[in-house]
Amino acid sequence: MDLSGRLASRQHRARARMEELGVDALLLSVGADLPYLTGYEAMPLERLTMLVLPRVGDAVLVVPELEAPRVTPQPGVFEVRAWGETEDPVAIVAGLLGRHGGEVAIGDQTWARFALAIQDACPGTRMTPASRVVGPLRVVKDAAEVEALRAAAHAVDAVATEMRSRPFGGRTEADVSRELVDRMLEHGHQRANFAIVGSGPNGASPHHDAGSRVIGDGDVVVCDFGGIRAGYCSDITRMFVVGEPAPEVRDVYALLVDAQERAVQAATVGTPCEAVDGVARDAITAGGYGERFIHRTGHGIGLEAHEDPYLVAGNGAPLEPGHAFSIEPGIYLPGRFGMRLEDIVVAATDGPDRLNAAPRDLAIVG
Ligand code: ZN
Ligand code: ZN
Ligand code: ZN
Repeated sequence: MDLSGRLASRQHRARARMEELGVDALLLSVGADLPYLTGYEAMPLERLTMLVLPRVGDAVLVVPELEAPRVTPQPGVFEVRAWGETEDPVAIVAGLLGRHGGEVAIGDQTWARFALAIQDACPGTRMTPASRVVGPLRVVKDAAEVEALRAAAHAVDAVATEMRSRPFGGRTEADVSRELVDRMLEHGHQRANFAIVGSGPNGASPHHDAGSRVIGDGDVVVCDFGGIRAGYCSDITRMFVVGEPAPEVRDVYALLVDAQERAVQAATVGTPCEAVDGVARDAITAGGYGERFIHRTGHGIGLEAHEDPYLVAGNGAPLEPGHAFSIEPGIYLPGRFGMRLEDIVVAATDGPDRLNAAPRDLAIVG
């Protein structure tokens, strides 16, 4: 199916969901729901871009005139209503809604100033988060989306593999981080989202910002990086050590590799999300480091780097075919070092489909 057909089918399913929830119209602005349904990503601007998708009737993309050339028309999916600099886009949206109120699902990341202005312009409108409509659709990836995620994963696999023969010692974290970004772009990413480089004690902070610390001999280095390729996100973590690793480093890493592998194998269709987290956590706890695994095991991934489903205690929802998520247990020893190992996995009827294939052993670098 081509993009236009896929968009039409998504819109059809969104409308069915609106029917189920009693939602009269869907309003989408910045955020990933808009490209999911239109193929167009709104610029996060002070000028309003908004798709007005009524449950019955034509969808209209209200877009600033100067942004309109960036919209790829999708006849039969939505019409374009370009607004000029002196027009009031909120009035246009209100006009399309019909000013009669009703139940409106508005994009979760819509700027509050626009949500409030629409609320003012359409008294009696009740607003609900659009994730209630679009979330259940987006969480199940179709075959083309899985292939887009796979291509993004292969690109960061290539970067991770190249880094195994690159020097780390004597360089700052920021310098290595920049190299990760450059290589992601070289490998076809349109944008890098993040490139965490946590060396030595800095690695014990899971989201450490790569900084001016100079990587030294014996340092354990966490490299967690990802970006967007053809609209879909990548996210991978691999571990590096400068020179011969200390025995404790080898032991902790062996425990982590085992925990991650067990969690990947446990990520089968029908398994509750929290059970996958439990498998990783039990393995690390049995090894004596349960207290040092301080975050959930994984997050969903797709158009956004972090989205449903979350692999965390309390999420009893079962994995379904087409769910895509990270499996990234970690062990963090404050003041010393941290370790994490991350792959993207898709739940499939014939078992977990691990998208990343870069070597998972501790890379010994210079
Ligand atoms: Zn994270
Ligand atoms: Zn990551
Ligand atoms: Zn991640």
